Order: sequence, then structure tokens, then C-alpha cells
Amino acid sequence: MAAAAYLDKLNPEQRAAVEHGAAPLLVIAGAGSGKTNTLAHRVAHLVAQGADPSRILLLTFSRRAAQEMIRRVERIAMQAFGPKAPAVQLPWSGTFHGVGARLLREFAEVVGLDPQFTIHDREDSADLMNVVRHELGLSKTEKRFPAKGTCLAIYSRVVNAQVSLDRALGDAFPWCAGWSAELASLFSAYVEAKQRQGVLDYDDLLLYWAQMAGEPAIAEELGRRFDHVLVDEYQDTNRLQSAILVALKPDGRGVTVVGDDAQSIYSFRAATVRNILDFPKSFDPPARIVTLDRNYRSTQGILSAANAVIELSPERFTKNLWTERSDGARPRLVSVRDESDQARFVAEAVLENREAGEALKSQAVLFRTSSHSAPLELELTRRNIPFVKFGGLKFLDAAHVKDLLALLRFAQNPRDRVSGFRTLQLLPGVGPAFAAKALDAIGGAPSPLAALTGLTPPPRAAADWAALAEAASAIAADAGWPSGIAAARRWYEPHLERIHEDAEVRRLDLAQLERIAETYPSRERFLTELTLDPPNATSDESGPPMQDEDYLILSTIHSAKGQEWKSVFVLNTVDGCIPSDLGTGTSSEIEEERRLLYVAMTRAKDALSLIVPQRFYVSSQSARGDRHVYAARTRFIPTALLDRFEAVSWPPPQAESQGARTPVAPIDLQARIRAMWG
Ligand code: ATP
Ligand code: MG
Repeated sequence: MAAAAYLDKLNPEQRAAVEHGAAPLLVIAGAGSGKTNTLAHRVAHLVAQGADPSRILLLTFSRRAAQEMIRRVERIAMQAFGPKAPAVQLPWSGTFHGVGARLLREFAEVVGLDPQFTIHDREDSADLMNVVRHELGLSKTEKRFPAKGTCLAIYSRVVNAQVSLDRALGDAFPWCAGWSAELASLFSAYVEAKQRQGVLDYDDLLLYWAQMAGEPAIAEELGRRFDHVLVDEYQDTNRLQSAILVALKPDGRGVTVVGDDAQSIYSFRAATVRNILDFPKSFDPPARIVTLDRNYRSTQGILSAANAVIELSPERFTKNLWTERSDGARPRLVSVRDESDQARFVAEAVLENREAGEALKSQAVLFRTSSHSAPLELELTRRNIPFVKFGGLKFLDAAHVKDLLALLRFAQNPRDRVSGFRTLQLLPGVGPAFAAKALDAIGGAPSPLAALTGLTPPPRAAADWAALAEAASAIAADAGWPSGIAAARRWYEPHLERIHEDAEVRRLDLAQLERIAETYPSRERFLTELTLDPPNATSDESGPPMQDEDYLILSTIHSAKGQEWKSVFVLNTVDGCIPSDLGTGTSSEIEEERRLLYVAMTRAKDALSLIVPQRFYVSSQSARGDRHVYAARTRFIPTALLDRFEAVSWPPPQAESQGARTPVAPIDLQARIRAMWG
């Protein structure tokens, strides 16, 4: 092999990180400095030097990010090996949750789990929490007891932050502190219910993995399995995730983590920036630290504005980024009248960019909360501008898609009550009381599927019941996936028509689900990955755009992490949105919102527009109900920073006067039309 020419483009610091040996390594650096790129080069370099790709564990923030990383590694490997490059399979790449699910499935019997366990998404988990709440009588006797979603969030924080219940309540849910005793018994019952039913929730995937990795006998085997463990976006991991990492590699050998403390934006999910700051000293000798300070992504104007925003933070970040991209204008601060104008402005600007040769795909619109894009989605649809939305998707939330997935889960694990409850009640004549009784019988039976077949349903449901039992058995047999999903669709078809008036449109979603299913090797992988990391499809008639089509990206800022586009638009850059007024407004929350704006701004390569509607709509999520409010530019861009931006007002004044009508004398059209009929 020739000298490592594929490393030539890297700067000396990046190269040092790529060629670093086996001792633990931390790359901590600002946005766009090439952290992810360096990680991809390091993986390719390890493989080029003979490392076994199946012994590399690569943990990313989302499955999409993992796939993107694999593509990058393949491209670099091509340069390293030339045209005869072997395909680089990285079977152990994915999110902590996804990898955890696979390892737990593999070790299920060793650690006393049902190998057929199903995974509950957040909504299923909240449903189960609710059932348990009712069973304990907490929702009846205690009128003001926290709602199911709050209970789940508290539980989740205890697990992920690895703190006591009282500490979690004090830190994040002070208004629930009085319920400590009730919550403790609720959570204990919730855990028992999950175990009885053979279900794991998201948090369990990390919790059981951490526990498993802490068992000396298994720890050794797990640690030996991976020669290298690499983690991107380490600033957004939680205590449980760092515990897993240390349990896998207690001496840190082969461990590389990269991240940016100024981009830590997931503390509401118990992520802690302490992980990345404390990483070096978690090992003895401590990890090597590499910092990168050249930004390759953005123009100077964008970078200076973003730097200026983050510099106002009372926290101290260690980076001082520079770029050679001195071309390009300052970012725009665009003042519009309201959200409708905001939508029109974005649609027109996007089209103008496309006219100028910039594909829709290289442009993105970012927003704080999923619902903020609603007016824009309407405007884009009206103008036939195709788009895909990331973060807060609708496809998998649609009732018919959930119905079909519930049947698949129920067939895999008939003890999963949330899935079973949903499935059984699709049958006409089966209500909650009978469904609960049936699930008791099924859950307690040695062969749950046989019990399902053997039950006597209410007379009206007899035929449907038999069809369900047959479909469930066919799916459970799993002969030649994806035939299972076809069986599920056939079974669901008559119910779809009965339940939904718009069955025609919904059928397209189900066809699309089947197409997605066909890309997975097994039912189990399909269900796991769909639950953990749903595809980003919007439920419209045409389904998600195909690979080679051009479409605009809409994304929450949280989901835009790690990505970049030529042009970026940020909606509602106003106080109340960024920072959001839904939080409690503590200073640590406000600082996280500042970092969020920094993340949004640093996604842009060539052009950045922050949009400031003078009025915006506050939905009923806010305690004060639906209303319009007058908005003020975000406090993160105080007057002192205005010179970093180009101020734009839209629509421009002359365009407005063109649109205005010149007064004319009133005409009675109605009378004229009546006259046409005599
Ligand atoms: P973020 O903090 O947003 O995750 P990052 O630090 O991971 O950013 P990358 O996404 O890896 O940064 O890189 C940003 C951009 O800079 C990419 O387009 C990448 O290809 C480019 N880049 C990185 N390093 C170099 C280099 N040495 N030469 C040229 N381009 C580079
Ligand atoms: Mg990155």
C-alpha cells in the first residue's frame, strides 16, 4: 500500500487524532472543525491498518448519522485501498440504544430476559405507566397526581442520570416533589409490569446493558469483542452511557470520543456535559486530548456571528474557531410581519436559491419545536415544493401504522399488554374488559399463542378472533420475512376499511411500511429499529421522496445536530421560541437554549437567515391558551451584536405597495349575475 495519501487532506491536529495509538483519546472541538470527519478517517485508517471492522463499535447519535458515517468510511477506504477496496462492513455501528437492543437480545437467556422481548416506544411506555397508575388508584384518589408523561419523564431521569428519585425531583421536577412516596411505588409497579410482560422501554436498553456490562463474567466477553469503541457527539451522552463505555473498556484502551461542550443540547434527556469534560480523568493514565480550531464549514461572516452569540454565555468554552472562508456576506436578520409572511419569505428565498443553482437538498429550515413549521408546511405544499421533515414525524404516529405494528409486536411477544390491548380491541365486539381478561389468560399460559387460539371470544367477534389468531401464528412463525408483514396487512385490511373513512390514503402508508420492512433482514430487527429510530417520512400520498429526488429539509434544531447545508433558515428567532417559554426558565435552561441557537447557526455553510416575525402565534400548549403575541428578537442577539448581521425587512416596502389595490367604485356583481337568469 502506498503512503497514506488518503490522510493528506487532514490538518496536523486531525491527523494526529487519526493516527493516535490505542490509549484513550478525546477530540474536543467546535462546530464544523471536522470532528466527525476525523472519526471517519480514524475508522478507515484502523481498517487500512488491518483492524477487523466487525470488532469496531461505532456509536453515533442517530441511525442516520451511523449510515452517513459508514458511507464516509467507505469513501476514505476507497482512497486507501484503491479500486479493489473491500466493502467496509461495520456491523456494530448505530446508536447506544440500537446496539444495546442487539446485545441484550443476544445475551437474553444469560441475563434472564425473554429473548422475544418487545420494545416500547415513548408512547407505549406512557400508556403502560398510565395503566399502572390506574391500578394503584393514584389517578383517582389523587386528583392532582402528575400526568402519565410527567411520570415517565421523572422515571426516565432517575434511570438515565443515575440519581435518586428525590434528587431527580429536586433537579428537574420540583413541583412533583410532594409525590415522592407515591411515585416510588408507581415506578416499582411499572418495573414489575414490564418484566411480567417481557417488554423493555428505551431506558431499559441502556440500564440492562450497563448492568450486564458491570457483571465481571460478561464484561470480559463484551470488552474482548470490540478492539475499538468510538463515539461521536459525546457531549450529549448521559451517565448511564458513560458507565457503559467505562464498563466495556475499564482502561480506556481503544476508546475514542469526540464532541463539543458548546453544543450540549440534550440535558432535558439527562445528558450531561460532565461526561466529556471528565472523560480524560476517567482513565489512568488520563486520555490524550486533541483540540481542533479551524472551521471548514462556514464563511467568516457566519462563524463570527455564531462565535459572538456563544461568547456571551457565562460558561467558558475553550475554543476560538477560525476559517479561511473569508468570502460571503454576514448572516441576515430578517424581520417579517407574522408567521404567514415568514412562510412566504422562506418559500420564495428557497426557490430563488434553486434558480441560482442551489438544489433544495442543500437548503434547510430549522426550528425550535416541531409545530413551528406548520404554516411553512402549508405554504410549501401549496407551491408544490417537496420537503422532508426530520424530528417529530407523523408517519409512525398515524393510527393505522400503529395498529399494524401493534399486531407485529403482539405476535412476537403475546405478553406485551400495550400491543395486545391495541390489537384485540380492533375486533368489533371486543371491548377493554374482555381484552384485559383475554390478555390475563394469554399472559399466564405456557403457550400464549395457543391460548389466544383457544379462547372463546364474544359471539360477535368469533370469526375475527379466529382470523387474528391465524395471522398472529403466521407472523410468529416468521417463515421468510417479510411475508409476516404481508400477512399482517391482509389481516388488517377489513379493519382498516371499517375504521377509517379515508382508507385509500392510509393503505398507501401501509404499502410504504411494507416497502420499508422489506429492507430489514428480520421482523425483530425491523421492529427494534423502527421503534428506536423511526424513518423520517411524512404521511402524504406520495410517501417520502426517493433518493434521487430533490427536496427541502425541514428539521428541529435538535435533529439537525452534526449536519450542514449551504443555506440555512431559522424560524421564529424570537424570545418565547428561542429561548422557549415552555421551560421553567432557570439559568441552566436558558444557557442550553443559547447553545441551541449556536448549533442552529453553525449548520450553515454559505448563507444563514434568522427570521424574526413581529407577531407570532402561541398555541394552547402555553398555559394562557391560544393567542397572538407581539414578539421580540431573541435575547441571545442583543443590540451590541446587531452589526454582525445584515438587517432585512420583508416584504420590501415597494413590493407591498405593488400588492395594494387602488380604490375603485363598488360594483354589484350579485345583481348582475341574478340578471343573467332573467
Ligand atoms: P459538528 O460540530 O457540527 O458535528 P464537526 O466538527 O463534526 O461538526 P464535520 O462535519 O466533520 O465537523 O466537518 C465539517 C465540514 O468540514 C465537512 O464538510 C467536512 O467535510 C469539512 N472538513 C473537515 N475537515 C476537513 C479538512 N481537513 N479539509 C477540508 N474539509 C474538511
Ligand atoms: Mg460532527
